[in-house]
Amino acid sequence: MAKTSAAKPAPLEAKSPFEMRVNLAKELPETDVQSALDSGDMGFLHSFTTGSTVDGPGVRVVAWTTGCMWRCRYCHNPDTWTMRNGYPVSVVQAAEELRKYRQGLKVMSGGLTVSGGEPLMQHKFALKLLQAAKGMGVHTTIETNGFLGDQLTDADLESIDLVMLGLKKWDPEGHKELTGREIGPTLKFARRLAARKRPIWIRFVLVPGLTDDVDDIKKIAEFAAGLGNVERVEVLPFHQMGRFKWKELGIRYHLEKTEPPAPAAVERACAVFRAAGLDAP
Ligand code: SF4
Repeated sequence: MAKTSAAKPAPLEAKSPFEMRVNLAKELPETDVQSALDSGDMGFLHSFTTGSTVDGPGVRVVAWTTGCMWRCRYCHNPDTWTMRNGYPVSVVQAAEELRKYRQGLKVMSGGLTVSGGEPLMQHKFALKLLQAAKGMGVHTTIETNGFLGDQLTDADLESIDLVMLGLKKWDPEGHKELTGREIGPTLKFARRLAARKRPIWIRFVLVPGLTDDVDDIKKIAEFAAGLGNVERVEVLPFHQMGRFKWKELGIRYHLEKTEPPAPAAVERACAVFRAAGLDAP
């Protein structure tokens, strides 16, 4: 059993999402979980972090949701896969937490990012929180794998200023092996955002031996460039900061021996995106 499953849970605010959190909604009746998901008045959060400069433009508050239907081999927060590992938090509480920071977020050209986990697993809650942020004049971003993009209506998309979309691998079989799911719905969501001219930042995790095939990266780059609404591509080097979570959760981890990519490999991947005409700093 994980150490943090002890009786006294950690506070909602965390220094980083790398804090291990489990079973915070373990006792909640299934009917309560279902009605929370149906109404969106309550959601499940791993934590809130503040002062992030790596989860969207400017300085941001990040609401980390729990629940994800993918099983990426390099996932650094597998404790967010299970919704009941998160705190049950009302949208009113979450919005109050955000309100404390709203002036600072505006001054620092930042905003709210709803990440996870996969926030669209609780799309009604995520949307209500994003709408509350918009109501405060705070910039809104969602970080998603896009698989459940169909859950959002076109009107919903207007409440989201930026979508940070994870593109993991182009080859369909490789994608399924890497994430456990098909790539098709993610690509469909990306095309829909493009048709509606909603801004996207692409996030691509570079993992030696897993996602570093240059031809595969080129195909992702060509697709992203063809959309016309991709403002930026972030190549994120794989790291091992989440390795301990796999161990504590007792889940088989395939990347025990995988090293982070060399800086030259990261630069090579960025260069592929830049060659396609994308901004990949
Ligand atoms: S989509 Fe994100 S949260 Fe879900 S398994 Fe993949 S990396 Fe982890």
